[in-house]
Amino acid sequence: MKNSRKYDTESPINITGHVWWVGQYLKDDIFQCHTYLIKAGKNSVLIDPGSKLTIEGTLKKIERIIPFENIRYFIVHHQDPDIAGALDIIDGKVIREDAVILSHWRAISLLKHLDLKLPFQCVEKMNWKLKEDDLDLSFIFTPYLHFPGAFCTLDNTTGSLFSSDLFGAFTEEFSLFAKDESYLELMRPFHEHYMPSREILAYSMEKLGRLRLNWIMPQHGSIIRKDLIPFLIAQMKNFDCGLFLMSLNDTNIEKLSRLNRFLNNFLETLISVKNFDTVVKQLLEHIQTIIPAQTISFLYRQEQASWKYLTETSRYQHVDLPSESWLIQVCSSLFEAGNNEVHTFFEDIHRLALPLKNSESGKLIGFALIDLSDNVNIDNETETTLIQLSHPLGIALEREIMQQQLDQEKQKYYEQSIRDSLTGFYNRAYMREAIPRFFAHHDRDLIGEIALLVFDLDHFKKVNDQFGHPAGDVVLKKTTTAISEYLRAGDIAVRIGGEEFAVFLILEKKTAALAIAERIRENVSLIDFSSLMGEKNQTISGGLVFREKGEILESLMARADQCLYKAKSGGRNRIALSR
Ligand code: GH3
Ligand code: MG
Ligand code: MG
Repeated sequence: MKNSRKYDTESPINITGHVWWVGQYLKDDIFQCHTYLIKAGKNSVLIDPGSKLTIEGTLKKIERIIPFENIRYFIVHHQDPDIAGALDIIDGKVIREDAVILSHWRAISLLKHLDLKLPFQCVEKMNWKLKEDDLDLSFIFTPYLHFPGAFCTLDNTTGSLFSSDLFGAFTEEFSLFAKDESYLELMRPFHEHYMPSREILAYSMEKLGRLRLNWIMPQHGSIIRKDLIPFLIAQMKNFDCGLFLMSLNDTNIEKLSRLNRFLNNFLETLISVKNFDTVVKQLLEHIQTIIPAQTISFLYRQEQASWKYLTETSRYQHVDLPSESWLIQVCSSLFEAGNNEVHTFFEDIHRLALPLKNSESGKLIGFALIDLSDNVNIDNETETTLIQLSHPLGIALEREIMQQQLDQEKQKYYEQSIRDSLTGFYNRAYMREAIPRFFAHHDRDLIGEIALLVFDLDHFKKVNDQFGHPAGDVVLKKTTTAISEYLRAGDIAVRIGGEEFAVFLILEKKTAALAIAERIRENVSLIDFSSLMGEKNQTISGGLVFREKGEILESLMARADQCLYKAKSGGRNRIALSR
């Protein structure tokens, strides 16, 4: 006997009050089938008798507690062979007339095929109760996967629930009692794989949660003590059942369970975390438990059959395509072929391409390129897992692409809303928004001098009259382009009216402003408009002022306008300055 088994499984074990374990330890059996006996005089009960593999040991144990004839009730929670396989042996041993097999009608409708002498009684016809002098049982309907008529039995005398497959577990080593909360993780794959849906399991847990239980005695796994029961029931309500849908070929239920939990957590991350970096980082960590992944980058196909590349180093903003042009070629041909498989590149780098798909149409959208520190063999199982992981990754990528496109559009519309479309200068609305911030800095001596240059095109009406409005537009555009050439990044150029412009300059010294204004004026006068207006040149007049501390925009503009008027009346093509 192994050290880990503290109990002598060759003997019957008294669990509580009149309840005994009379199961049979089977070597290397991860299911460990348990049979229980309720010692109740002539009304004793045998629960889930067992199979041909276990019945001999079970009968020996029973004989050490009570004569077999004392058993009147044989409860069979469902019809599977590990519970009912020994019924014909029992049938041959029972001599008393009033002995009976108790079960649900659906199990009975199958068990009758065993052609036993023992009669059946339906628990539902007993009003889900059994009461004798020394026996008080309730039956609870708890349907599950392989038998919708399954139920549990509650011994009201001791508060013991004989739960059949519910609370069962896969145990590597036989352990008669559940050690601690870690038993949950042994139960998880058992239930997630066994139960058809979370709703069905939650229904049973809801019912059982209302009972006052001291013990839970499942037919597989380990016996559960009172203190663990509320925790386990609460947790089991959230088990994700129906795992067998995840993979047709994979029989590693624990692995499927882990993957399933990861996918659920990951989807929660996707919903709650907006940051693509974080989402990818979490996914990478999970992928690293399967293969030696180092980084993930993304290649996705845009509408015009061009590729976009997102990498970790660029914080998943678009960057230039990878330098390896063959990589694009391979990905393009995989894309054209509608590839569904993990593609490995092991020529000079260890990398694999995981196809990513649109979550609705199922169409390929691109690839996750996973760089590996080592060459690995991608077997079927690894590939299946990677493909499972590609679903949420595809969703995350699509969401990120959409977000980046939205951001770009937002930026585009914002730019449009603050600029004039003909000249590209800022509009008045933006000036009113942005200039007061500059002025506040100026008032607090955080920046040098603020100069305002106001320009107006000379005799521009004539240009329109003589050469047409479209030609006037071209003149306007070329003039403003010439003005821009003398501005620095921090300067603000605004189209304040039809052919009037304001330029705000930030300078260390006032003297520089006049030089800039003069250069702009001169530069405009030198533009060659011969193709548009023959010999005629376009000139501008300007007014130049410096902001006083505390001065508001309107006052500054008014002073600049006065200077401009002076320049016009002084003969045009000149700058007038005010101090
Ligand atoms: P001054 O030297 O005194 O400024 O003479 P001016 O002819 O330029 O003066 P005025 O302000 O009277 O004329 C401005 C003209 O600019 C009137 C208008 O037709 C023209 N204009 C304003 N906006 C545009 C535009 O967007 N495109 C074109 N082609 N012309 C415009
Ligand atoms: Mg004008
Ligand atoms: Mg004007």
